Amino acid sequence: MLLDLKIVNAKIATISGIYEGAIGVSKGKIKAIVKNGDVLKAEKQIDAKGKLILPGAIDVHAHIYDPKFVHREDFEHGTLAAIFGGVTTVIIMPLDTHIDNVNILKHYIEVGERESYTDFSIQGGFVKSDNISNVEELAKNGVKAFKMFTCKPYMASDYVFIRMLELTRKLDILITVHAEDEAILEHSIRKALETGRKDPIIHHISRPPLAEKAAIEKLLTYLEYISGNMHLCHITTSYAVKAIEEGKRKGLNISAEVCTHHLLFTYNDAEKWGPYLKMNPPLRSREHVEALWKGLQNGVIDTVTTDHAPGSRDEKEVGWEDIWRAWGGVAGVETLLPIMFTYGFKRNILSLEDIIRLLSFNPAKIFGLQFKGDIKPGLDADLLIVDPGFAKKVKAEDLHYKNPWTPYEGLNLYGWPEVVILRGNVIIENSELIEVKGLGRFIKAANAFSRI
Ligand SMILES: [Zn+2]
Repeated sequence: MLLDLKIVNAKIATISGIYEGAIGVSKGKIKAIVKNGDVLKAEKQIDAKGKLILPGAIDVHAHIYDPKFVHREDFEHGTLAAIFGGVTTVIIMPLDTHIDNVNILKHYIEVGERESYTDFSIQGGFVKSDNISNVEELAKNGVKAFKMFTCKPYMASDYVFIRMLELTRKLDILITVHAEDEAILEHSIRKALETGRKDPIIHHISRPPLAEKAAIEKLLTYLEYISGNMHLCHITTSYAVKAIEEGKRKGLNISAEVCTHHLLFTYNDAEKWGPYLKMNPPLRSREHVEALWKGLQNGVIDTVTTDHAPGSRDEKEVGWEDIWRAWGGVAGVETLLPIMFTYGFKRNILSLEDIIRLLSFNPAKIFGLQFKGDIKPGLDADLLIVDPGFAKKVKAEDLHYKNPWTPYEGLNLYGWPEVVILRGNVIIENSELIEVKGLGRFIKAANAFSRI
């Protein structure tokens, strides 16, 4: 048969090992993986010249679009940045507009399919007592993960958490949780305000690690009581790692993500970057950062994400004078893979299989993206060609965000893809965009924690 595309002379990196060979692609799917590419007949051929082929990365927590805040980011810029960084699927997270009914979901899908360079899935939320009745219908329409908060401004009551955990069992869905204890936060933020300080560091001090500990321990107790499925967003502390490890040992359906900024920075870095490193949860001490890296190595933490949530420069700059007024969020989707490739793989902290597990395989498994997450016949041909010896310094003006600033400015990073393929479509070749927007599709999620 005549294939659409073949990639020859490649080191094919999969979850189960690295093989030399060729990949054949037909109708957007991986059709064949063979040792000698000569046996494949295809309309188009790409010679990988001995470089790595990785499965496309998946960023499970990206605030790419909110109709009220398109000056911060939008589908066109956010997914263009993603694809240049090797992220072929983003999971859209609500920012402020709640994705809590089918009408707003349809709006997201329509805009997303018109404007995107990557595929995308969508998280619903924020679930509270007034919209929990819409969850079942959203699940029928392909939304299987629902964001909830244990704290303001989108806080759900404890009882809504219990009811949602029951629903996760019934509907094979997942709750994803921003876990900081509201009582501790209310107290600690009030104390921080009373000091009169407005410098960038006070933001990080105002939300203590114990707020995360209290919230996660309670959530895991609920999970143990009800059962069900839970994913913890952007964990930042050794307490969280320990609690999740214990939960997994007990057999709970729990998974967790960590953000690149929490892996690379401590709150001391906020002195240099000021409001550009304001985010929630905040930055922690070196000790917590080390616990997060250990959690990645031993499989307690399942995925690395970016919580991509840029603001405009104006929304950040006001924070030099008064940190309380600055937007809290950081850009990151374009540097996800390069950061993990450099600080994980190149530094021998994580293997290439670990990188694939953290950025592709586990995200697909947890969020029910059945045809994503690895390189094997039958899966979507979402493929990256990466020269492992090529490095480039991060410069904000080279990035593709709507607001091109980055706290990773100046880092020398490996892992930039020179070819990016989305369901068989070559989007980037020779590190240049060769396709137009609009090829990205909404991916309906299958059951949470499903196996590939
Ligand atoms: Zn977020």
